[in-house]
Amino acid sequence: MEFRGQKERLINNLISVGVLKTPRIIEAFRKIPRHKFVRKDYLKHAYDDIPLPTFHGQTISQPYTIAVMTEALDPRPEEKILEIGSGSGYQAALLAHCVGSKGKIITIELEPDLVEFSRNNIKKVKLKNVKIINWDGKKGYKKESPYNKCMITAACKEIPKPVIEQVKIKGRIVAPVNDLFGQKMIVLDKLSDKKYKKRDLGSFVFVPLR
Ligand code: SAH
Repeated sequence: MEFRGQKERLINNLISVGVLKTPRIIEAFRKIPRHKFVRKDYLKHAYDDIPLPTFHGQTISQPYTIAVMTEALDPRPEEKILEIGSGSGYQAALLAHCVGSKGKIITIELEPDLVEFSRNNIKKVKLKNVKIINWDGKKGYKKESPYNKCMITAACKEIPKPVIEQVKIKGRIVAPVNDLFGQKMIVLDKLSDKKYKKRDLGSFVFVPLR
């Protein structure tokens, strides 16, 4: 199936609404084929700007949301980044492209079927700098720490303490944090062990971190 036109249209839309900005991130959206990360029965919607089901009631986020989160995280070459909620592996693949071969993505998934799904998808695109681990992301993942940055792709009550601890000083965490009606996208900059700067990028809706 030929997806090039659809993919370009999606990317150009995300650029024109001002959400995709950084050349390295735009290139990642061009290089990583989203259609290799969606379920076969949703293939024709691979480049629609909507979330799609993975398995067990979980989803691969809407491209718009992924663009907002990736731009906010600002992944750079050689960084080591922790992702919580591997799902399809698509977000991890975008990050992996941005950090390059000298960088590394550690991504954690609670649900074994989704660990397998994301591993297979990552294999299809031949990325060698992504490690998928079956683990509870609320604990972070100490073994590979410290991280330059962390992205949480499921809604949390608050950013888990271990995750904050495992991110380096001057590091950053992007996470959807619950409020009354949905989630607020929070960008947390760790200025020192005790000092943080918090920004709120507005409302989004996510599946919960369990
Ligand atoms: N980033 C994914 C989408 C993630 S959806 C992508 O690009 O496709 C959120 C994911 O978080 C789901 O797959 C869900 O199973 C997982 N999840 C929920 N609670 C978790 C936890 N405590 N630890 C790790 N993963 C969790």
